Amino acid sequence: MKNKMRRSAQRLSKEECISMLERNTAGVLALYDGDTPYAVPLSYVYKDNKIYFHSAKEGHKISAVRHCSQASFCVIDRDDIKPEQYTTYYRSVIAFGDVCIIEEKQKAKAAMQLLALKYNPDDNYEHRQKVITDADQAYKVLVLTISDMSGKEAIELIKHHNN
Ligand SMILES: Cc1cc2nc3c(=O)[nH]c(=O)nc-3n(C[C@H](O)[C@H](O)[C@H](O)COP(=O)(O)OP(=O)(O)OC[C@H]3O[C@@H](n4cnc5c(N)ncnc54)[C@H](O)[C@@H]3O)c2cc1C
Repeated sequence: MKNKMRRSAQRLSKEECISMLERNTAGVLALYDGDTPYAVPLSYVYKDNKIYFHSAKEGHKISAVRHCSQASFCVIDRDDIKPEQYTTYYRSVIAFGDVCIIEEKQKAKAAMQLLALKYNPDDNYEHRQKVITDADQAYKVLVLTISDMSGKEAIELIKHHNN
């Protein structure tokens, strides 16, 4: 991480960061296309220090990944607005790392299995394989290898845990 968190009491552990990545279903991948920062919402799956995404074969996101491999990915775990306090009780995680397109077919397929299992765990094996195989020519799989990760929550939530 380039910057240390100013309020370190609000910093969450690595385990809590991983839990947030595991229990949520969407985040925002921040990329740089050489001209403009591009933050794009995506579904994802986390496994073993990597975050996998599926994508159409071309588009702004793919061009940006090709231009610059550095990326960050942010997931909002909690956002409880407290109007009377003019604040939100929040919790979120940001993962930093290198993102690339998985070119090797078997690895891309394995990542698609992880995505499919996360988003449709009740599907049967045969149907899952069929969906993945049928879509074979239509997608690319991206992987973000996490080099650093930070989690943070609102001070009010920390006070709550401590009480
Ligand atoms: C909760 C959620 C989950 C999603 N999950 C996936 C996923 O797993 N895989 C996937 O490929 N896509 C997913 N999408 C759609 C994704 O956000 C992009 O729209 C899509 O991936 C196309 O991206 P692109 O850069 O190739 O689009 P392009 O068509 O190349 O984008 C062209 C322009 O369209 C605009 N644009 C693109 N996407 C969005 C957007 N979401 N909102 C507003 N403007 C946009 C931007 O200005 C962009 O420069 C998800 C969206 C949401 C909200």
